[in-house]
Amino acid sequence: MIHEIFPVGPLQCNCSVIGDETTHEAIVIDPGDNIDRVVSTLQRHQLTLKQILITHGHIDHVGGAMKLKQATGAPIFMNSNDTAQLLLLDQMAGWIGISSPGPVTIDASLDHGVQIDIGGLHASAIHTPGHTEGSTCIHFPSENKLIAGDTLFAGSIGRTDLPGGNFEKMMRSMHERILALPEETVVIPGHGPATTIGEEKQSNPYLQK
Ligand SMILES: [Zn+2]
Repeated sequence: MIHEIFPVGPLQCNCSVIGDETTHEAIVIDPGDNIDRVVSTLQRHQLTLKQILITHGHIDHVGGAMKLKQATGAPIFMNSNDTAQLLLLDQMAGWIGISSPGPVTIDASLDHGVQIDIGGLHASAIHTPGHTEGSTCIHFPSENKLIAGDTLFAGSIGRTDLPGGNFEKMMRSMHERILALPEETVVIPGHGPATTIGEEKQSNPYLQK
């Protein structure tokens, strides 16, 4: 599996370009910004983009989605519980001092348990409300890899004080869905360095009993 991860935009959201070496089909997760780099990464690996997946509706994760859709024709998937977030994008742009990306609409909801089967790539959507109501992680079981959005970070968890955030739901998502994954699972958070489920179980201050 081809997997390029690079930070995009002023908040340095980790954007993933994931492709299959054989079929050259690809998905992009969280194209928050810097769409030129996303497109050139796809081109460098001769990948055809099939789906755009969004972990949650915050501007730093979804801001470039429409531009990437226009450039590639790929549909946008995000959990529909976060469509309310998309109505706040102008406001979020103001908070971080960037220009608004304009209206963003999704093509289908990334509901819990949805399977992503794209030319040799296999993943499933895990709904993990807490950071936002629609927050969703993307799990690649055969690769032991989790794209965690802003749910779990190395040594921390996503904030729950923004609109749609809920600490109790975050803890439930964490214990019932995230920590249930194998300890060797590599976690790619929405920001910052990678970690593993085992490492976070052991040392993340928010996950200690
Ligand atoms: Zn966020």
